[in-house]
Amino acid sequence: MLDILIKNGKYPDYTKKALVKGNIGIENGKIAYIGADEPEAENVIDAEGRVVSPGFIDIHMHEEDFHEGKHFCIADMMLKQGVTMAVGGNCGTLYQTVKEFRDTIEELGGSPINYMMLSGYNHYWTELGLGHSDKSTPEQRKSIHESIKKDLEAGACGISFGIEYDPGITEEEIIEASNISDDDRLLIAAHYRSDCLGNIDSIEEMADIQSKIGKRFQISHLSSCSALGMMKESLELINSYIEKDPRLNYDTYPYNAFSTYLGSTVFDDGCFEGWHKTYSDILLTAEPYLYQYATKESFEECRKNHPEMLVVAFVMNEDEIAAAIANPNGMIASDGIIANGNGHPRAAGTFPRVLGKYVREDKVTDLVTALRKMTLEPAKRLDMEHRKGDIHVGADADITIFDPETIMDGPTFGDLTVPNKGIDCVIVNGKVAVKDNEMINDRAGSFIAYSDK
Ligand SMILES: [Zn+2]
Repeated sequence: MLDILIKNGKYPDYTKKALVKGNIGIENGKIAYIGADEPEAENVIDAEGRVVSPGFIDIHMHEEDFHEGKHFCIADMMLKQGVTMAVGGNCGTLYQTVKEFRDTIEELGGSPINYMMLSGYNHYWTELGLGHSDKSTPEQRKSIHESIKKDLEAGACGISFGIEYDPGITEEEIIEASNISDDDRLLIAAHYRSDCLGNIDSIEEMADIQSKIGKRFQISHLSSCSALGMMKESLELINSYIEKDPRLNYDTYPYNAFSTYLGSTVFDDGCFEGWHKTYSDILLTAEPYLYQYATKESFEECRKNHPEMLVVAFVMNEDEIAAAIANPNGMIASDGIIANGNGHPRAAGTFPRVLGKYVREDKVTDLVTALRKMTLEPAKRLDMEHRKGDIHVGADADITIFDPETIMDGPTFGDLTVPNKGIDCVIVNGKVAVKDNEMINDRAGSFIAYSDK
């Protein structure tokens, strides 16, 4: 007998580029049946009028900092928006080593979602006491490489760089670090060296790195770096490089505001002139200014005294956000980042927002294409398409059931707890994890090591 039968729904068939009808049976954590019959099952879910999608895969987010407490926060937000697997450790940032992260998940008896991790170059750069613009010595680079190798041994699936955050990191240094393993299936991801006027040079640099290392290379959160008046040229350039080598690609998120730490080099003098914005376009997200727009005074005070505060910067252009989503290449990812429970709503609403606003309302892309960019494409990128990102017999039963007529993001700037609409049910490894926005099982996921793929 099946554990679960999902009947009367439609699922995306990516080879046919269409939604197709089919009942889906789940047994022992795997998809065990697809067809027109209704085999007996312990739990029957009626998905009439619903899309039965592979669970969404967020290839770019920022994992829990377990120093804040050994509990999950952003993983819960991910799960409730239909994400069943996510990749942390992006933009060069780590909150703990990959081994510590993995051990904590095991200690907690699992995770709300399946987690994969990248090793973060900047984390180890900072740990050595190197400042943003310093130059590293060969001994220091060797030490960083040793730390990254330990992360890879602990199960990291690649390496990330936050070039803008520590511009002392050279192109040669990135190539050297990316080559510490000759496994060409490792994923290398990088946050631009410079947004705004520097963004074309930054893309050229990343494409150059990709061609020299011959590995998969992910340009991180395209929207936050190029939706400042440069999206058209950026997409033309990236598309031309992808045509030469599809191992280059990018991820993008559906909001016209980015979020990072106030102390970051992103907010150095001259940033507002480059963006044509001002202090009141910055939302502070911690006490004593929780969810207040900045003034010159509060901005300067917080940058000096609370550089670790996450802030939201409303500086991007809406039509350029849509162009990055509509482009034939690219993936949807949240870049979600949360500190002490607060932050940008992208951590909690990215995927329903793309399906509600950009697909149904604004029609910038069609439903099946959008789903492919949040399921099969990231799965391929991670070498997981035999198991995830696609509905087929034998695949892991990670499934998100939603209503295409009502799906929409709920979380707002200022209130991340507003529920998303239209997500009926999220299944992780064959277990119902969320039903009607209620958490049923927050330990159905696990850490997936690179070697376990
Ligand atoms: Zn980043």
